[in-house]
Amino acid sequence: MSKDKIGLNTICTHVGEVPDKQFKGAVSPMYMSTSYAFEDVDVKRYPRYFNTPNQEGLSKKIAALEHAEAALIFGSGMAAISHALMAFLQAGDHVIFQQTLYGGTYNFATTQLEKYGISYSFAEGWGAEDIEREIKPNTKVIYIETPSNPLLTITDMTAVAELAKKNKLLTMIDNTFASPVNQNPADFGIDVIIHSATKYMGGHSDICAGAVAASQAYIDAIWESSICFGGSLSDQTVWLLERSLKTMGLRVTAQNNNAQKMAEFLEGHEDIDAVYYPGLRSHKDHILAKSQMHGFGGMLSFELKPPLDASQFMKSLQLIKPSMSLAGVESTMLSPVLTSHALMSKEDREKQGIRDGLIRFSVGIEEVKDLKGDIEQALTHVKTKSVLA
Ligand code: PLP
Repeated sequence: MSKDKIGLNTICTHVGEVPDKQFKGAVSPMYMSTSYAFEDVDVKRYPRYFNTPNQEGLSKKIAALEHAEAALIFGSGMAAISHALMAFLQAGDHVIFQQTLYGGTYNFATTQLEKYGISYSFAEGWGAEDIEREIKPNTKVIYIETPSNPLLTITDMTAVAELAKKNKLLTMIDNTFASPVNQNPADFGIDVIIHSATKYMGGHSDICAGAVAASQAYIDAIWESSICFGGSLSDQTVWLLERSLKTMGLRVTAQNNNAQKMAEFLEGHEDIDAVYYPGLRSHKDHILAKSQMHGFGGMLSFELKPPLDASQFMKSLQLIKPSMSLAGVESTMLSPVLTSHALMSKEDREKQGIRDGLIRFSVGIEEVKDLKGDIEQALTHVKTKSVLA
């Protein structure tokens, strides 16, 4: 059956399976060899060349999920981001980053690029018009993230792709927060799609991986420099990621539903000051999100009403884990200021609307009533403490 005609959960379950010709088992065998024959073979295989049987199989699944021709799997999301950028940038080039990025990407841009003679700008906003203002004669790449981390702002992918085509620039997107279940940037003309597969693709908080999907020509270009940088993923983890992806459609759909309910609950709560979730009608980019996403995702952020203390609140949770990272089947919360955006100055964070008390909520697949109950008991605990203080 053509992979263009099959649905999401069928792609998740079957595309890219490595057939078990010997024993006819139902799942892909794991090929752990780092040494393959070089004579009488069609392909010279080597893990750092991204072409072991398991790497090739998983790449086909991720390409199909992202409506792209090809994909590569990396050792982390940051490996995918840095390898993809460095494949297209050289000394003298300029890259434009959207305002509000994952903190690690911000750190990569601000600490690494100048060493290689590459200059960069951050757009003052999230719109194509904000990006357009930063275009210089030597600009080569536009890099966006939508929904963004941690405020879930939405960037118009069609407008960015059109701007890039007009100016002959390459577009890259970090599609981690949406996952391929909720958003397929290739359908809107974005050239290179990047994932921290540590998040929704892995989905169980036990895998660190990254992925890039694009046209065959762009993947060939990324491959050429990536075999030098060497950021491939071990076949054991590739196999585990293939296994995890089989349930991604089911997991993320459950997380979308739970996040919508939790966002509505928090928005109507007397102790909550602000909620940021693109599925809420009150979100400034709700209409845009609806036009380019299949689902609004499992991530939201919120602020407690002053003087309630965010740190005390998170310490009082009993079910939801205060925890780094995101997108696992278990619900977690964190303070972006103390974790993902700690390397950014307070001034830069505040320019982007990231306040000290902001809490980022990665909604899992638990029962909504239990999540609400945990938040209620933690709020009661914090309120009692602030009255006693
Ligand atoms: N992109 C986003 C949106 C992220 O949240 C993260 C990590 O938290 C990354 C990229 C980097 O991924 P990794 O930690 O797998 O290198």
